Amino acid sequence: RALEERIHRDARFASEVSHELRSPLTTLKASVGVLESRKNELSKRSQTALDLLSRDLERFNRLVSELLEISGYDAGAASLELEEVNVTQFIKAATRNDTSISYMLPVKADSLVINVDKRRLARALSNLIDNAHRYGDGPTVIEVLTNENSIEIAVEDAGPGISAEERKIIFDRFSRGSSSGQRGDDGGTGLGLSLVQEDVRLHGGKVWVENIKATESETGSRFVIELPTTKEEL
Ligand code: ADP
Repeated sequence: RALEERIHRDARFASEVSHELRSPLTTLKASVGVLESRKNELSKRSQTALDLLSRDLERFNRLVSELLEISGYDAGAASLELEEVNVTQFIKAATRNDTSISYMLPVKADSLVINVDKRRLARALSNLIDNAHRYGDGPTVIEVLTNENSIEIAVEDAGPGISAEERKIIFDRFSRGSSSGQRGDDGGTGLGLSLVQEDVRLHGGKVWVENIKATESETGSRFVIELPTTKEEL
């Protein structure tokens, strides 16, 4: 019981720290906004400094929101708000109907309805899609598979793929793989996939990544979210 109490205390502490950081962050964002609006009055050197500040502030802001979210899971405060979601509409909305993606949906996809927390699942799917853009040259395929007691939603890209070593750890908190920062992008926090995992687990499902190796030159990753379903849903 003492250990449990300690874990809860740590989670509360993380949550309080994140909360406390919100208000100075809001002030910082407002002040940077003022500077941004008068950017062309600044010297080149100050403009560069402002760009650096804005970028880091953006990342800091994301980090604090994600930490708040994570501490909510640790404190056992995260809960599901289930609602009926039409799978096809949901996926098209998440990808903003991106026509460069191949959608591989089951025959009865239009009438496929699942009971999920829409906000959480949309966030998880967007995260995978964003990652496909950032690390894998964009999503190529979104596939939905229905099994007897589950549904799988897979996001594929044709990027460099992820090594077996990294596949074991990329869902861990603050884990950033070798692809991060390589494409001029260091806005990542390393928390995105751990949040996806928490959201999917909350639904009683699981998430994993596979490598696609169609040929020696064709690589890519396939992230799969599997959610349990009931007979009435499919
Ligand atoms: P972040 O994007 O903030 O680094 P994530 O938890 O979303 O954090 O991802 C962790 C790491 O997994 C990334 O740093 C990247 O190296 C790797 N990764 C995620 N998605 C892909 C992908 N589609 N292709 C290649 N690597 C990926």
